[in-house]
Amino acid sequence: MQLPAFPVEGGCQCGAVRYRLKAAPLGLYACHCKDCQRFSGTTHTMSMVVRVADAELIAGELVGFDKAADSGRTVRMLGCADCGTKVWNEPLASPDILVLKPGTLDDMSWARPVGNIWTDRAQPWVTIDPAMPNFPGQPASRQPLYDAFAAEVAKG
Ligand SMILES: [Zn+2]
Ligand SMILES: [Zn+2]
Repeated sequence: MQLPAFPVEGGCQCGAVRYRLKAAPLGLYACHCKDCQRFSGTTHTMSMVVRVADAELIAGELVGFDKAADSGRTVRMLGCADCGTKVWNEPLASPDILVLKPGTLDDMSWARPVGNIWTDRAQPWVTIDPAMPNFPGQPASRQPLYDAFAAEVAKG
């Protein structure tokens, strides 16, 4: 995986929210849980885990609500106050990270997921690469997904 030159930027559909990502993410995977299907309107979302210190809101206002995730943990979903586009969420159990929605990046061509979580909720017609680190639910640790991401980056 060829990472871009950081910082990179992204934003919401209406353009009010703009953010900057200042360094490489820790990991990037697909989530097939029911909540991700609901809020995306499709089969899964992509979760790009970044350090809180590396993500900076540079325009607009994010509003959120706290939802009980399928894992039983609480996740604060944050989206544009004007158009509602979900930009990132804050897993309250892990206050040092944000889970950014990479579709909001201006250029996400480099952002390829390296694994899958909640595969037991995946739709039967979705193809899951068995060679990837995949988890039937919420993994106890994201470290295997971080390791897989680092390995893809190291390949260049
Ligand atoms: Zn907006
Ligand atoms: Zn999910």
